[in-house]
Amino acid sequence: MIRTIVFYPDPVLRRTGGRVTEVTGEIRQLAADMVETMYEANGVGLAAPQVGVSLQLAVIDVSHDEECVSYLRVNGEEKTLGEICPIIFINPSLELTGAKEASEEGCLSFPDLRGEIARPGEVRATVETLDGKTLVIETDGLFARAIQHEVDHLFGKLFIDRMSSARKLAIRRQLKEMQEEFG
Ligand code: ZN
Repeated sequence: MIRTIVFYPDPVLRRTGGRVTEVTGEIRQLAADMVETMYEANGVGLAAPQVGVSLQLAVIDVSHDEECVSYLRVNGEEKTLGEICPIIFINPSLELTGAKEASEEGCLSFPDLRGEIARPGEVRATVETLDGKTLVIETDGLFARAIQHEVDHLFGKLFIDRMSSARKLAIRRQLKEMQEEFG
């Protein structure tokens, strides 16, 4: 089922999601719906707060382009993006490495807004799956960026927070319009 994506400034986007302590049928349904909703919206990632659910659950699929990462290891084993996407994960923690790289990002909760965001180029993410496995994902490129963007959502942080002050100033009017329309 397609879920409704909530837009900035919905307060749910600013909350830290609760940890998922029990994977119920409801959680599995939510995850399946989020994958469907992400595809329908042509996104590469979606976090539960973006469909109004304040939980540490997110989905990502960047497998449209295997070349968007230069390496991918899961629990120390080389993997392709096609093998692990769409990935559904809960309760993540991140270690960020690599020099900061700037690249353009969008967000499904900010239709029509894009901006350059500087983020560390590599991540080591420890996440849980719905089947109770722990995965250690080491990667770079677009997958590393998408993981950081979605994990930010789970802790109430948004990509506008990470824009340069010049960019923030430039989008001030757009944000104000969104506050008026969706607030
Ligand atoms: Zn987003």
